[in-house]
Amino acid sequence: MATIEARRRDGSRMTLDPTGLATLRTGLRGSLLLEGEAGYDEARTIWNAMIDRRPALIARCLGVADILAGLRFAREHELALSIKAGGHNIAGLAVTDGGLMLDLSLMRGVWVDPAARRARAQPGCLLGDVDRETQLHGLADRARLRFRHGSRRPDPGRWIRLHDPPLRLDQRQRAVDGRRDRRRAARARERDGERRPLLGPARRRRQLRGGHGHRLRAPPHRLLDGTQPRGRRYYWKSEYLPGIEKDMLAKMREHAGRITSPHSAVIVFAVDGALNRRPADHSAVGNRDAAVVLNITASWENPQDDAVHVEWARSAWRDMRRFSTGGTYVKFLTEEEGGDRIEAAYGDNFARLVEVKRAWDPENVFRMNKNIAPRG
Ligand SMILES: Cc1cc2nc3c(=O)[nH]c(=O)nc-3n(C[C@H](O)[C@H](O)[C@H](O)COP(=O)(O)OP(=O)(O)OC[C@H]3O[C@@H](n4cnc5c(N)ncnc54)[C@H](O)[C@@H]3O)c2cc1C
Repeated sequence: MATIEARRRDGSRMTLDPTGLATLRTGLRGSLLLEGEAGYDEARTIWNAMIDRRPALIARCLGVADILAGLRFAREHELALSIKAGGHNIAGLAVTDGGLMLDLSLMRGVWVDPAARRARAQPGCLLGDVDRETQLHGLADRARLRFRHGSRRPDPGRWIRLHDPPLRLDQRQRAVDGRRDRRRAARARERDGERRPLLGPARRRRQLRGGHGHRLRAPPHRLLDGTQPRGRRYYWKSEYLPGIEKDMLAKMREHAGRITSPHSAVIVFAVDGALNRRPADHSAVGNRDAAVVLNITASWENPQDDAVHVEWARSAWRDMRRFSTGGTYVKFLTEEEGGDRIEAAYGDNFARLVEVKRAWDPENVFRMNKNIAPRG
């Protein structure tokens, strides 16, 4: 193996010697990829095509031991480190330029405990992976479902049963599936029943209603793949809003009218409910005064058009910031947003998070994220 150039955490350049690289490679259960090797480009490519970075090394981890081996190597060499899980972060924080990327996207195991309504998922899982396993038990994760159907009922817990009568998931599902698919699903459920003549009547009724073992529906989280597919170019600007005001809606319409790409959108979705009922310091993200997320999502295909679409999103956001609570959602921050915007995302909890960071990662090894520096 030849020597390769890499980048340290502090940004300086270094050369990695072949013996160390060979040791890392043989110590992994997964593979170690260098530029030019088969699979390297696929591994460094993420959902947002705006992100085009080249790690010096990619460790495709298959388990915890691989993660630890990669982490040890990065620490010993003070290498810049990034972690790719699902690779869906808008800012492309999963991919380091010139450092070591720990690629966890092959680790997609899901273990469901239906009695406890708990699922354990490996870090490379997408929501669709979790859906696939939980639906076997008639369960679904609430993530991203609630605001789509607008329920304001108290949150009884994170997991919902797909067949509980009060659930409005079915209404959403009907809209998506259409009549023809519903007829097909009904026929399939009947067939299921017919194929299981040994079931007692109660169990059989439960099955026909859609309980354990029922015919699976489309994974709900996959619905977004249609409008926000992997491989397009994306740029977002986002704010938390205290509610929906008439003036805000008028501005929203105005900026939507100036949209520069058919894939772009101005989106608002409700997040109020359980979020507002907890005390501000209940958990890191805070923002207990937020009722709505505003997300201005530019999306397009041609790299030559970057400037025009980015500018549309920025100018709409500059104009609409006046309606903000002052807070923002950390996972929607784009590449160039750091400093003040990260503090805005955590609000009063920021100082406490600095303490946590100082205790657990004083050298800031994990810094390829919307970083909270362990400053003194
Ligand atoms: C279309 C779309 C819709 C979305 N909708 C929602 C939504 O409804 N609700 C919501 O909450 N979010 C939503 N998001 C945001 C998304 O949840 C975040 O961007 C999230 O970070 C993506 O997770 P990922 O595993 O793909 O992260 P990646 O892009 O792989 O990584 C993101 C960051 O997390 C770090 N990281 C990842 N795994 C680990 C690990 N195991 N240990 C330490 N650090 C790690 C990485 O270093 C990086 O800094 C949406 C994103 C997209 C693209």
